[in-house]
Amino acid sequence: MGLPSEDKKPDWKRYVDNQGLKCPYCGSVDLACDNLDADGGYAHQDIECNGCGREWQDVYRLVDVNVDGGPANADEPVPDDHPDSQEN
Ligand SMILES: [Zn+2]
Repeated sequence: MGLPSEDKKPDWKRYVDNQGLKCPYCGSVDLACDNLDADGGYAHQDIECNGCGREWQDVYRLVDVNVDGGPANADEPVPDDHPDSQEN
């Protein structure tokens, strides 16, 4: 059963908090992503670290929808005309 090489568990919570930017095993940011597979509001993506060669799967969840280039569930509609909002 248990793998003897599993002496140190990666901090996956921190990995997720960092939006999956760094390999939790070796800290490399050189991650290769492939095969995004969406299914029923969830999506899985194969990740391979080019630093240490380990592989895992990121899990994504549907959180919102964009319609016509904007969020569908925004509380306030984006005003079409802005009288004098000159943004510098
Ligand atoms: Zn790595």
